[in-house]
Amino acid sequence: MISVRTENIRTESIKNLYQQKGVNMDVLRLDLMHPLISGNKWFKLGGYLEDAKDKKALITFGGAYSNHIAATAEACREIGLPATGIIRGEKPKLLSPTLQNAEQAGMQLVFVSREAYKRKSIPDACKGEDQLVVPEGGYGEKGMRGAAQIISFLQNSYTHILTAVGTGTTLAGLCFSAPETTSCIGIPVLKNENTIRSEIDLLLPKEKKGKYILQHDYHFGGYAKYNESLIAFMNSWYGITRIPTDFVYTGKAFFAADHLIRSGYFPRETRLLVIHTGGLQGNVSLPKGKLIFG
Ligand SMILES: *Cc1c(COP(=O)(O)O)cnc(C)c1O
Repeated sequence: MISVRTENIRTESIKNLYQQKGVNMDVLRLDLMHPLISGNKWFKLGGYLEDAKDKKALITFGGAYSNHIAATAEACREIGLPATGIIRGEKPKLLSPTLQNAEQAGMQLVFVSREAYKRKSIPDACKGEDQLVVPEGGYGEKGMRGAAQIISFLQNSYTHILTAVGTGTTLAGLCFSAPETTSCIGIPVLKNENTIRSEIDLLLPKEKKGKYILQHDYHFGGYAKYNESLIAFMNSWYGITRIPTDFVYTGKAFFAADHLIRSGYFPRETRLLVIHTGGLQGNVSLPKGKLIFG
């Protein structure tokens, strides 16, 4: 059994903060389910783990700070499934905290060159009988359908739902099952303006394709890039709301939500839900003392 606690998921109302702008914000706290198998990663993995039941092993892909690797390694440890992570780039002298944790959870790490990683080919040495291959980040229709279940945890109705976007699987899932009248807004954390739309649309049925909004101005230079204004925002957001965020995904999503609200993007009487997709484990790779929360 997996120690994920979906009963810990709750909706928090950010009371009064944006009243002047006519916006009511709620936060869906998916970060409270599990420290490693956190947030959207659990939802995306569900279908794959189900398939893995009759398999002997699982193999997946990720970078040095990947929450997907962290979540997959821990989930596989808990269900007793041998797991291999194909990791982008040469093996560093010192493993990132994320990779150290993954290795401690029993995941075998195999480092491949960036070029080989791009091709997503499985090194011969890792090929085995009966292994389930999970795409990077849980991307795919299975991941999308898992993420679609997030909607069943909503306690109120919303005019807008906002989430961070990596592969876009989570946004696709939200878009898939949200009511027609709800606008889904994605905040890409990578510089991928040219490709991300087609990747998201590939996961969606015809009638849902393109029916979401992407705001590309909040990636802070690209994946895992940050600056002092992002860190200052994350600290002040924690000070005001007591909600911790991570610098790769949710910090950027909340920054974007705050900025869009303050700049008058949302009409009055907006009921906005921001999904806290988890990922807090990633903050251990920041220099100590940057964040006021641990
Ligand atoms: C992976 C991740 C995302 C992005 O999810 P996608 O489905 O790949 O778009 C968002 N937030 C957190 C915390 C994540 O770990």
